Amino acid sequence: MIRLPHRDGFYELRPSKIIALAKNYAEHAREMGMEVPEKPIIFLKPPSSLIGPGEPIILPRMSKRVDHEVELAVIMGKKAKRVPKEKAMDYVLGYTILLDITARDLQAEAIERGLPWSIAKGFDTFAPVGPRVVDRRELNIDDLEIGLKVNGKIRQLGRTSQMLFKVPELIEYISSVMTLQPGDIIATGTPPGIGPLRHGDKVEAWIEGIGTVDFEVLREDSILC
Ligand code: MG
Repeated sequence: MIRLPHRDGFYELRPSKIIALAKNYAEHAREMGMEVPEKPIIFLKPPSSLIGPGEPIILPRMSKRVDHEVELAVIMGKKAKRVPKEKAMDYVLGYTILLDITARDLQAEAIERGLPWSIAKGFDTFAPVGPRVVDRRELNIDDLEIGLKVNGKIRQLGRTSQMLFKVPELIEYISSVMTLQPGDIIATGTPPGIGPLRHGDKVEAWIEGIGTVDFEVLREDSILC
């Protein structure tokens, strides 16, 4: 369970699932050498991959290439099943930043072999969140700057207006497949500029109106478990 500042207190993040979007920014689809999708492409990340501010991102032994992806995360406030897009935003509690950390080599292998992405996307610490939860009513998410730096250098930069499928459409689509529970998280896809993380890196992610959050990167071997 992750606690993030929210209003005057804290919000306890305890999702039953994290639903993430693939290729929801056209420029990122292009940098991956893929076509822009006609329908949203979703996959799941396990809640066990969540970490909060102050915890490190761990590079697993199984991967030789782990990438950063900064994303706007939508936190659901109410149970949502088959919700039309016109009403979708009524079901949202608020927003935070989520890094969809990805073992790119394992993902490439899965894509080539037609296998799911569960391993590439699902290691512990592969869903850092923070710095806080902003209430839906306090932030218009239509056109916010979203970016990420590694060791002070800008790697990713975009605007939420560049999303192919907007949040109301995503909620309509996802809730037609699976019931969204309060606390569930939708990671809305990443702008271009993805790249590798290395031991000792300092990652800094920001979204206008939400703030900045940073995480340290450590190799699994460097930690005594
Ligand atoms: Mg992603």
